[in-house]
Amino acid sequence: MQRIVYPGSFDPPTYGHLNIIQRASRLFDMLEIVIADNKRKEYFFTADERFEMITEMVAGLHNVQVNLWNGLIVDFVSNVGARVILRGVRALSDFEYEFELSLINKGLNPQIETIFMPTDKKYFVLRSSAIKELAMFNGDVSSMVPPVVVRALKAKLNGS
Ligand code: ADP
Repeated sequence: MQRIVYPGSFDPPTYGHLNIIQRASRLFDMLEIVIADNKRKEYFFTADERFEMITEMVAGLHNVQVNLWNGLIVDFVSNVGARVILRGVRALSDFEYEFELSLINKGLNPQIETIFMPTDKKYFVLRSSAIKELAMFNGDVSSMVPPVVVRALKAKLNGS
């Protein structure tokens, strides 16, 4: 069984993330999404909120599982018996960072490979940080994130 692990902050998850998830879930038997909950990082949404949003987004995909993890990704990968990490890349600027990260993970566990999937051109400019900023100024983000995330952004920004 070919299992692939897709880690990220997903703060919040976007249609760009979902596109990668849908395409990868067709190539592998099982896709494990790992929501990073790094205690030293500040997130806009709590880990539970990010978990709930992604869970709703992937509800129709039967070989996709959502997990929360606050340790090293390579440890999660070996714990579930996988060998492959998936990362999405948008532009060359992503690639530099992703390449470095893949070398770090390779150094931590040489058995684990990272593979990169290029974004669909429709989602080339989707970035979680820009979406949060746009939402703060009341911008319409409904073409960038699913309805569950639009609602969560509104609720968060209205302080509820
Ligand atoms: P991280 O904080 O770990 O970079 P993100 O949630 O920002 O986590 O992204 C998770 C993964 O999804 C990364 O590999 C990132 O490059 C990729 N990604 C983010 N946005 C898009 C997009 N619009 N299209 C394709 N891949 C994306």
